[in-house]
Amino acid sequence: MMPEAAEREFDVVVIGAGAVGENVAGRVVQAGLSAVMVEAELVGGECSYWACMPSKALLRPGTALHGAQTTPGAKEAVTRTLDAAAVLARRNYFTSNWQDDSQVSWAEDTGIELVRGHGWLTGPKAVEVAGLDGAQHLLRARHAVVLATGSTSNNPPIEGLEDVQVWGTREATSAAEIPERLTVLGGGVAGTELAQAFARLGSSVTLVARSGLLGTFPEEAAALVAAGLRADGVTLRLHTATERISANEDGTLTVSLGDGTTVTAEKVLVSTGRHPALEGLGLESVGFEPGESGHLSLSTDTTGLVEGTPGDDDWLYAVGDAAGKNLFTHQGKYEARATGDAIAARAKGGLKGAPGDWTSCAQTANQHAVPSVVFTDPELASVGRTLETARKDGYNASSVELPIQVAGSSLHSENYEGWAQLVVDEDRKVLLGATFAGPDVAELLHAATIAVVGEVPLDRLWHAVPSYPTISEVWLRLLEKYGL
Ligand SMILES: Cc1cc2nc3c(=O)[nH]c(=O)nc-3n(C[C@H](O)[C@H](O)[C@H](O)COP(=O)(O)OP(=O)(O)OC[C@H]3O[C@@H](n4cnc5c(N)ncnc54)[C@H](O)[C@@H]3O)c2cc1C
Repeated sequence: MMPEAAEREFDVVVIGAGAVGENVAGRVVQAGLSAVMVEAELVGGECSYWACMPSKALLRPGTALHGAQTTPGAKEAVTRTLDAAAVLARRNYFTSNWQDDSQVSWAEDTGIELVRGHGWLTGPKAVEVAGLDGAQHLLRARHAVVLATGSTSNNPPIEGLEDVQVWGTREATSAAEIPERLTVLGGGVAGTELAQAFARLGSSVTLVARSGLLGTFPEEAAALVAAGLRADGVTLRLHTATERISANEDGTLTVSLGDGTTVTAEKVLVSTGRHPALEGLGLESVGFEPGESGHLSLSTDTTGLVEGTPGDDDWLYAVGDAAGKNLFTHQGKYEARATGDAIAARAKGGLKGAPGDWTSCAQTANQHAVPSVVFTDPELASVGRTLETARKDGYNASSVELPIQVAGSSLHSENYEGWAQLVVDEDRKVLLGATFAGPDVAELLHAATIAVVGEVPLDRLWHAVPSYPTISEVWLRLLEKYGL
């Protein structure tokens, strides 16, 4: 039996102290409210320890080396391959060796209370926490409870999966050794990035995907990434189902595919998507039920307020991966800033009803300008709508595309191959989206994000002159091709 605890009251109770929970708490405290964060694992969440940071730390050295190897004058100086041990050591540095002291100090310095344990709702504005120290904590929110609990990996229906030990993205990003062979199941962003990272670190990698690689991006862009993976020796088995997985006596795992073939490897990484982590949160106690998928999901408005929040006032919010809109750290933190501002404004009586679009309390960019980068080599960077999604959303949209062939790209490296696309709203002559694929294009993306968010008219964009000789000169070529 846990000792009974006295109830403590805060303006805002945040369940989950990943990057998103931290940002909501930080924002409301900055506005003068009190906040407590409840965290069951490490303060900083998935991104810091098992996702963005370690995966990019595993990828970056390979990209730097390849950059040198494709630049005459530098390539002659490259006489060795990647030093896997040094890469893993650098990865450990970027995860702070899976210690969250610096994040805990940040919370203390910011004036945010931290309760370590597993939290759940017991009723409107009431949260109970089974503390990691064995104590029970009862927390009451004056204004808001925010669910920032992240997401959980999907379990694909593969026979035998429950009987064998496979890697999820956590095990892959925190791996202490590079397996001789690795089978990756899943052709989304995480599967693609990790396939290349491990291939460059010395694994013999096979990637199996039920559909194509990076299917949400334009085909031409995804094809360049596929070519990059193949050049690194990754075997791509696309449009191929995985039916069964079994363990062999020597500890290896054999995956049986829909076309009757098998793939055997020391490790299998299952990376087949994620869903909001909303189980065990007591949502049933405030009236929510799982949907047809068997998973709970919540609809939120532009301030992150959960639709159907029970009670007389608006008190339940969901942000970041838990809200299930855009599973990216940067977008989750954007949602967190808007939600934090909305909670503070409502607490002070300054916001009644829904805020206007593009105000600080509204997550308007979620509808128009979500940027995303696939950190493979070549990179794939995209913002806003593709031509397909623009037309589906009812826009009178056109597109213009080009291979990236400018002075900046030919200077960048030998045989530079890239592709760029702008999607245009023909009625308003503004950008709806942009995609770039090629070595080092990720840093081109923010210019496109600004153009989309700012709804910069194309005839004004014409006056944004790219420096010579940069890869950004592709903007000029695209606008010329459009007819300016
Ligand atoms: C391999 C991989 C690579 C990625 N790379 C990128 C990238 O490069 N860029 C990018 O933008 N995004 C990337 N993402 C996505 C990114 O990691 C997530 O979007 C981000 O971590 C979401 O942040 P969050 O705070 O919503 O959730 P999380 O970071 O998951 O944090 C949620 C926190 O809530 C805690 N929690 C959950 N339930 C409870 C409870 N009941 N009580 C107490 N605590 C609880 C968890 O312990 C966790 O710490 C990647 C994802 C993966 C898997």
